[in-house]
Amino acid sequence: MATILVTGGTGYIGSWVVKELLEKGYTVRMTVRDKSRKEKFLHFDTLAASAKGKLELWEADLLKEGSFDKAASGSDAIIHVASPFTLRFKDAQKELLDPALLGTRNVLNAATRSGTVKKVVLTSSVAAVFGDNIDMQEKGLEEFNEEHFNISSSSSHQPYSYSKVIAEQEAWKLFREQKQWKLVVINPSFVLGPSLTGHSDSESLNLMKDILKGKFYMGAPELYFGFVDVRDVAHAHILALEKESAEGRHILAERTMSLLDLTDMMKVMYGKKYKLPLMKAPKGLMMLIGGLFGVTSKFVKRNVGYVIRLNTTRSRKQLGLQYRNLEDTIKEMVTQMHEHNIV
Ligand code: NAP
Repeated sequence: MATILVTGGTGYIGSWVVKELLEKGYTVRMTVRDKSRKEKFLHFDTLAASAKGKLELWEADLLKEGSFDKAASGSDAIIHVASPFTLRFKDAQKELLDPALLGTRNVLNAATRSGTVKKVVLTSSVAAVFGDNIDMQEKGLEEFNEEHFNISSSSSHQPYSYSKVIAEQEAWKLFREQKQWKLVVINPSFVLGPSLTGHSDSESLNLMKDILKGKFYMGAPELYFGFVDVRDVAHAHILALEKESAEGRHILAERTMSLLDLTDMMKVMYGKKYKLPLMKAPKGLMMLIGGLFGVTSKFVKRNVGYVIRLNTTRSRKQLGLQYRNLEDTIKEMVTQMHEHNIV
């Protein structure tokens, strides 16, 4: 069985990728920033012991040049998941842009230097496809597809989205400069579903925590997202790895809906158990008080109230991904959060 290097295996999405690889019998070289921080990968102890595959731990940091070279040497493929997904940062350059861009450069250069890596699967995002929801209307599009790249984000406006588009574009550039490895890119929309790790800062987990704890009780913004189950995202990476014919980008979304539609769906499922939003937060009010929720008035202006549509045909037809139902995703995520006393 092949040896696969996985970056970001300690994280929310990466943990599911490592789990599926181990269950399938691969040797997984999981890179961690600091081997002494055992709490970050404790959840693999029982999982790795019962799986067919073998788990190896290697130390590497996205910000250190050459850091991935040793782990890449002898690996057959790399799944590069690691990149910060946080909207709670102080310095966008240091906390988002550098790890995303320099990290991608370091990991992909390690792939080339390895001489052994034949395929790289990169976790990008729909944030690399578009920046603001209004982009669809401004570009005169019916929907977003894999031909589109985000051109509206910058280091000062939507820096997380900017980190994803500059990282993905760097990956395509490095791919074109060599002939040793193929590149397959996965572009998930907002990811939900149960977490294997209790030590992730992913905004996926923060959003569900905020919803269940009543952060939007007085009103939820009319913000549209694509949503996809974390296990489907992981499986898409495995399909991208294993399918000889896999190439290019793949937008992942089970469906697109507003945050309010999502919480209304949860009201049907849970009744009054949680302080779910009473109503839609008026856009004018959001422009005024958005700062309290960590969003700028420019963000509110260009995103709230604008419907988006995502074309997911490539993920379904080329990769053959079958999506879990969003209702099940939410049910299993909420159950898991209770089991781990998160809510
Ligand atoms: P997460 O749980 O916060 O995982 C981030 C991973 O990146 C962690 O394993 C983290 O390692 C690693 N990392 C961060 N900085 C690093 C550094 N300097 N050196 C080495 N590793 C570093 O977030 P996630 O939601 O799983 O996101 C994983 C990937 O999916 C990211 O590329 C993100 O952009 C992408 N994505 C996420 C979503 C979503 O809705 N969640 C949607 C689309 C795309 P530590 O454990 O050491 O912190």
